[in-house]
Amino acid sequence: MSDNQVPVGRFAPSPSGRMHLGNIYAAVMSWLSVRRRGGRWILRIEDLDPQRSKPEHALMIEDDLQWLGLDWDEGGLDNRGPHGPYVQSRRHDIYRQYLDRLEATGFTYKCRCTRADIMATQAPHQSDGRIIYSGRCRPAVMPCHDTDPSAPGATRLYVPDRDIKFDDLLAGPQCFNLARDCGDFILRRADGAWSYQLAVVVDDALMGVTEVMRGSDLLLSAAQQIYLYELLGFEPPRFAHLPLLTNETGQRLSKRDNSLSMEALRQNNRPEDVLGMVAHAAGIIDRARPVALSELLSPGV
Ligand code: GLU
Repeated sequence: MSDNQVPVGRFAPSPSGRMHLGNIYAAVMSWLSVRRRGGRWILRIEDLDPQRSKPEHALMIEDDLQWLGLDWDEGGLDNRGPHGPYVQSRRHDIYRQYLDRLEATGFTYKCRCTRADIMATQAPHQSDGRIIYSGRCRPAVMPCHDTDPSAPGATRLYVPDRDIKFDDLLAGPQCFNLARDCGDFILRRADGAWSYQLAVVVDDALMGVTEVMRGSDLLLSAAQQIYLYELLGFEPPRFAHLPLLTNETGQRLSKRDNSLSMEALRQNNRPEDVLGMVAHAAGIIDRARPVALSELLSPGV
């Protein structure tokens, strides 16, 4: 990003339930980061998972953001702005176009493995729960221009044995090896659902996003995404991955931590109290006290 470009950030929640403090933390930090520099902020609804996404959750996300005072210049359910639609389930034709481009490289292939096949053949060292695809359906020689894109199955992207390095604005220098750490990954599922990795890259690129701030659970995804940016000829944004908030028992917050869900937080607090919790967790203020967004925006805080 050149120095005189207006920063563009975004919040890209999945409407699979009520947000919790961790989601709000990412939203507030991203909003502050661009607003402090006079930048723009986009709200994109990532509802690609048809089983888990519900319109009522998306409505609550908007309501929770508004309650906190976080405003967006583009996006949301009313698809305001020049780069819409901002609801991923309405961007099917756009993703199709970019998948076509990737298929034309010869580095995609059709995969007919079931989940059980993948579990049975995954590399044995993946003990942290991450599944690295073994390459069972991969053609022997890549690029392969014989793959029939209309054949049934998921569409996977072949990844080379290559290090992807990037300087994360918060997490520092990163290096992931695509083959070892990610493996060939899915661009479109066998049931036709678009993958998060493809959709997020296409959307962030077309929406002009210059800064992606989100939780550090997505650090590895950033490497996959940088690779897709390169294949599609887009300039990647700057990445900023926030440390994950944990609950009293040291576990990462999830939608099951009811006391920190926005429902409970809104019942028991005012917006400035919740902003204070977030600002304290971020180390912006030294104790949790009520704080207004306007205070957080001032450079002295
Ligand atoms: N939709 C993703 C989530 O809610 C976030 C994606 C992103 O920020 O890149 O986890």
